[in-house]
Amino acid sequence: MKETPAVPKPLKDLQTLCVHGAKDLNNSTRAVSVPIYQSATFAHPGVGQSAGYDYSRLQNPTREALEKTVAALEGGADAMAFSSGMAAMVVLMELFGPGDEIIASRDLYGGSVRLFDNVLKKNGVSVTYLHTGDIDAVRKRTGARTKAIFVETPTNPLMHVTDIRAVSGFAKENGILLIVDNTFLTPYFQQPILQGADAVIHSGTKYLGGHNDTLAGFLVVASNELSEKLRFLYKTVGACLPPFDAFLLLRGIKTLAIRMERHQRNAMEIARWLEKQPKVEKVYYVGLPAHPDYALSCGQTSGFGGMISFETDSEETARRILQNVKIIMFAESLGGVESLITYPILQTHADVPEEVRNQLGIHNRLLRLSVGIEDAGDLIADLEQAMGKPWGSAPYVRT
Ligand SMILES: *Cc1c(COP(=O)(O)O)cnc(C)c1O
Repeated sequence: MKETPAVPKPLKDLQTLCVHGAKDLNNSTRAVSVPIYQSATFAHPGVGQSAGYDYSRLQNPTREALEKTVAALEGGADAMAFSSGMAAMVVLMELFGPGDEIIASRDLYGGSVRLFDNVLKKNGVSVTYLHTGDIDAVRKRTGARTKAIFVETPTNPLMHVTDIRAVSGFAKENGILLIVDNTFLTPYFQQPILQGADAVIHSGTKYLGGHNDTLAGFLVVASNELSEKLRFLYKTVGACLPPFDAFLLLRGIKTLAIRMERHQRNAMEIARWLEKQPKVEKVYYVGLPAHPDYALSCGQTSGFGGMISFETDSEETARRILQNVKIIMFAESLGGVESLITYPILQTHADVPEEVRNQLGIHNRLLRLSVGIEDAGDLIADLEQAMGKPWGSAPYVRT
């Protein structure tokens, strides 16, 4: 039996923070669960007075409890909750103007690429894509116009890892903002602000919400100065998370710790199984010691998460898997309790230009699997039958 690779231990106090959040029980009812304050506006006790809330676009008590929880989990000075991850991205990008340049990781989430190549371009902001794990390449490209480095680590879908401390050191020396999209690992496994990032972005739709039922996004910032600038944009744009959705996010985060551990355990088991399949040519999972960035990951994260990409032997095998999975659903998105399989070329990365996709290795044999919290044996049996073998032949033995 192959030895299970050592998984770095997640930080203990995060588990309690997930369950209890940053809520305070100073509400008159002593409700254990944060109530849904479904109110657009708040009455003033007198002229020039406020009970702390004025209008829900600025702040709402349910959303505030969620934002404080996410800020605490990421070790940030402030967090803002948005109606989606992309809404958070759009507001963050309002920090930049004509003539500015952003350096971004190469195989980013397709929606981020769409925003950069269309909206940002129109606004006079240029984006240069390179492998941000290559600090020399970042150094060479950085010029007077470079205002930010935007990093996804691990990347989507090819799982390249960037050394956050190395890039943040470089960014600080040069007065450049470091922004990390932490959607894949969540603060439970990776806390970029504690390693020098200025801002963290999340699609809360994914692991933080965790149940494939709500869209949400977060911006977490390291400094009060950045918080002030972004809070102004936040209240101006109005893409805020509604109170009921904030409640669902709080509810999801209560189980973040146990979900992440289970996602990871299942992913490890499935990645090791995939490695042995004749119809699978390559497995991209950061938790496999064969992954080129395995050692780097062990030094900066406390876990590897639940996302796997893999290359099949043919387009036909890839399509057969997508057609035939029964438990795993062929659907866009990730990070929920249900396992989902995606065809990046047609879904998440359809808007990435074809020649760029080919350069990156996003082709018609590449599948991305968001491993859920079902029984790992059931998921493996599902993949096995979908690849063309009948159920039950060559039964998979749990190790
Ligand atoms: C989904 C996703 C986003 C966008 O978030 P939405 O909530 O779908 O708007 C951004 N980054 C990554 C890595 C994602 O997976």
